[in-house]
Amino acid sequence: MSLDILPGPLLSERTTLRLGGKALAEVVLAEEADLHELDSALSKLGGRPFVLGKGSNILALDGDHDLVLIRPQVLLEGEKPWQLLREEADHVLVRVGAGAKLPGLVREFAAKGWAGLQGMAGIPGLFGGAVAMNAGSFGSETGRCLFRVQVFCPGQGVQWLEPGQWETGYRHFRIKHRDESLYFVVAAAELKLDKGIPEEITAAMLEAMDKKKATQPIQAWSAGSAFKNPGGPGSGVSAGKLLDDAGFRGFTLGGMAFSEKHANFLVNTGKGTASEAINLIAMAQDKVKDMSGHELELEVRICPCN
Ligand SMILES: Cc1cc2nc3c(=O)[nH]c(=O)nc-3n(C[C@H](O)[C@H](O)[C@H](O)COP(=O)(O)OP(=O)(O)OC[C@H]3O[C@@H](n4cnc5c(N)ncnc54)[C@H](O)[C@@H]3O)c2cc1C
Repeated sequence: MSLDILPGPLLSERTTLRLGGKALAEVVLAEEADLHELDSALSKLGGRPFVLGKGSNILALDGDHDLVLIRPQVLLEGEKPWQLLREEADHVLVRVGAGAKLPGLVREFAAKGWAGLQGMAGIPGLFGGAVAMNAGSFGSETGRCLFRVQVFCPGQGVQWLEPGQWETGYRHFRIKHRDESLYFVVAAAELKLDKGIPEEITAAMLEAMDKKKATQPIQAWSAGSAFKNPGGPGSGVSAGKLLDDAGFRGFTLGGMAFSEKHANFLVNTGKGTASEAINLIAMAQDKVKDMSGHELELEVRICPCN
């Protein structure tokens, strides 16, 4: 077994916003066994580790970075994205690899009549990224389905976390009782999904997708919502509305813009740079604060993070 290591990966080619400079190296984790070699590979490579899934929630900065990208593309035995562990009268337990593509999972589980992820149609990430972000939409949230989570923590190896060992919140997942300055890798997780009627769950999934197509620039180069809704998802205060009211719908700076279709989607119109993105974000935060008193907190993650 030897890890797949690539020198000089470009972040602009690995993120859906298509921004960012070059990292030192990239380590691809294709199966669970690869995790056991990660500590020693990273100490040989040097640099700071950064875990990157599909890069669909990342604003990567320009320039060269002292980073080693860890790419958890872990699938299960036989390169399967998921596996049925148990079927009960009213629910199923499935294991999913971090490298499984979220859109395919959402479709397959809906077609089987397994409810839980159906509102998450149109989220383009990998499953590991959905766990780490506690991704969600239209009433579905990854964290609500989690039964156990398999993680790799540096110096501690691979372990299965049982309920109570992690916490989730709005676009937030945290492993309790660990040094938060260290990275962790979600390798797989088990989901408990309610059994329902395939046609109904598929209809709910398609409805979520249609709503997104109608209101979001899903084909544009973006990282989804730039900012979280102040006060949380059910607070009734929408970041998009605040940005719209402050005049940012369609507002452009160089090659970066807040979308005409949805003011909370920061888009790269083709030749955008990360510094333009950062400036635009700061302008929006300042004006929204002045006009409404709300402090907009980023939902996208900056890479490298400080
Ligand atoms: C068009 C569009 C629509 C979107 N709509 C939604 C939406 O409706 N709801 C929503 O919640 N999000 C949405 N997003 C944002 C994004 O797709 C989700 O946050 C997604 O879950 C990120 O997954 P990823 O694999 O791309 O993770 P990345 O963007 O690569 O990483 C995101 C964060 O997770 C960490 N991470 C990634 N993988 C792992 C892992 N295996 N182990 C540990 N940490 C990891 C990274 O370090 C980073 O901090 C949207 C994005 C786009 C482009």
